[in-house]
Amino acid sequence: MSYQSWFNKHADKHTTIVEKLISCGKKSDEIIDYFDYENMVKEEPDFCPLYKENKKCHAIEELNCYLCACPNFRFKDEGIKRVEEKMQYSFCSINSKHGMQGVYSDKIHQDCSKCEVPHLKSYITEHFDLNWKKIMQKCTL
Ligand code: SF4
Repeated sequence: MSYQSWFNKHADKHTTIVEKLISCGKKSDEIIDYFDYENMVKEEPDFCPLYKENKKCHAIEELNCYLCACPNFRFKDEGIKRVEEKMQYSFCSINSKHGMQGVYSDKIHQDCSKCEVPHLKSYITEHFDLNWKKIMQKCTL
């Protein structure tokens, strides 16, 4: 699946859930809490493929899924730039020390597997908006 395809599908799923919670009268902090991994696994099993395997993308005790993927992620399916013989497709705009550029054959993709930034509630609260695409508006290059 391309980055853009995943991005659009995920935005739709996120919007559906947020609209449901708003219609139930939930406030912003309650909406963020709803996206806690433990709750999402039970209530929204189709939101993430890892839920069905009861797996987390990151080994964080209090993992929150509201800002999956990450507002700092940048991608372009056609490729961003050539780095020697390889094509770079994504990177981290803040160059987080916990992320890295992964090389996969002739492709370079951002590897966020060791970065917890977007899953922490403090970060989500700071960057919160009901509109996921608005928070992620800089991701697509
Ligand atoms: S390395 Fe961290 S901050 Fe950077 S894009 Fe990945 S998850 Fe976001």
